[in-house]
Amino acid sequence: MDRLVFHPAAAYDHEMHIGNFSCRHCDAEVQFNTSDFERHFLSKHSNLDAGMRRAFDDVQPVKDPWECFLDFRCVSCGAPVRITYNPKEYAMGSFYYEIASVLEPEEWDAASPRESSA
Ligand SMILES: [Zn+2]
Repeated sequence: MDRLVFHPAAAYDHEMHIGNFSCRHCDAEVQFNTSDFERHFLSKHSNLDAGMRRAFDDVQPVKDPWECFLDFRCVSCGAPVRITYNPKEYAMGSFYYEIASVLEPEEWDAASPRESSA
């Protein structure tokens, strides 16, 4: 992840904060911007199936009620990824977002996704 802070106020300067995530398994790039983090703010929605979601929860439980996460699959190889981030209030009711961690499976074989999720 090449950017750790996503600040919505940057848009006032006609600058959208964009971060590129590169998949460690296939080098595919996924691009995120501030609105992706706004959309998942305090959302418990996951784009992963229950097994993978639980695997991430086991490794690093989401304890802090303010901690948010963004679950997705690599568009190219399908490897599951979880980005955790924290909203920071910089003005009343306005938040920017700071990336806390990026979780990825150490091994990923696109041909047998079921086994790797265990
Ligand atoms: Zn990939």
